[in-house]
Amino acid sequence: MPDETKLSEDDGWLNSRLFECSHCGYSLWRLDHSPFYNSWYVYCDSCPCCVEVRVWDDVVLQARQRLSNDNRGQFWPEIEQKLKPCSCGGSYRFSSPRRCFNCNGVVIEANDARGVDIYPGHLDIRDIEPTQLQEEQYYQFEAKFGCKSEDIWKESN
Ligand SMILES: [Zn+2]
Ligand SMILES: [Zn+2]
Repeated sequence: MPDETKLSEDDGWLNSRLFECSHCGYSLWRLDHSPFYNSWYVYCDSCPCCVEVRVWDDVVLQARQRLSNDNRGQFWPEIEQKLKPCSCGGSYRFSSPRRCFNCNGVVIEANDARGVDIYPGHLDIRDIEPTQLQEEQYYQFEAKFGCKSEDIWKESN
């Protein structure tokens, strides 16, 4: 019994859950972004891609230094403005909704999407050793939609 309690607590903490795209039925996996990553995933406003903005990135540190408590609300607008546009032509925004990897339909509205990461459902491998197929699928996913962390900023000014 104690083990069961622990398991559900862990599940609740990251809010990890499989669900289906309401548009096309594709299996998706959502979970809360781990605070241990030391980064934010900033999603495109027009497709499922995202970039990883690290908390210790120079651009982030400079913005934090410059902004006082009074104008903290400017933090994300400043960061977003400095990010390169997505290859689809969209912009990376902290407040983007989450989109289906299969049909690009919105699956989590912007208001509920803050701090939520999504992956294809078949990548939910929490409880088992990944098979070779799953590893391959993971790399395919990474190559197409994976959160880019290099070369994400426009030319420095
Ligand atoms: Zn879909
Ligand atoms: Zn995009």
